[in-house]
Amino acid sequence: MKFGLAAAIQRRPGEIDYRLERQRILAAYRSGAQTTLQVCDAQDELVRNAAHCGAPVSEPCPVCDGSPLVHVTYVFGARLPSSGRCMTSVAEMQRLARRRAPYTAYVVEVCTACRWNHLVRSFLLNPLA
Ligand SMILES: [Zn+2]
Repeated sequence: MKFGLAAAIQRRPGEIDYRLERQRILAAYRSGAQTTLQVCDAQDELVRNAAHCGAPVSEPCPVCDGSPLVHVTYVFGARLPSSGRCMTSVAEMQRLARRRAPYTAYVVEVCTACRWNHLVRSFLLNPLA
């Protein structure tokens, strides 16, 4: 199911990709302009969600090289908590996508070993709503 969630969030309408910003931050980190403390600052709740709801991805952590990364997806919109809802399954995202209100999903990559985290992309869950 977790792999299914990762696959389900590929190439969505209204998608914004944040890879260039990721590269900029990692370049600053590797040059010494940013410290590990600055780039590995995932809050406890994000690390917990990554451990329990994260979808494994094939790419390793870019900071501590070798630790596995996961994607955590948060959805924001009507009747959801102001801090968003962490998605636990494809079915949960599909239920929200069927509602007649706009929802936006944000996918964050997280390393639970070093706390590296970065927004990977965002997309409209139900672009026709
Ligand atoms: Zn790491």
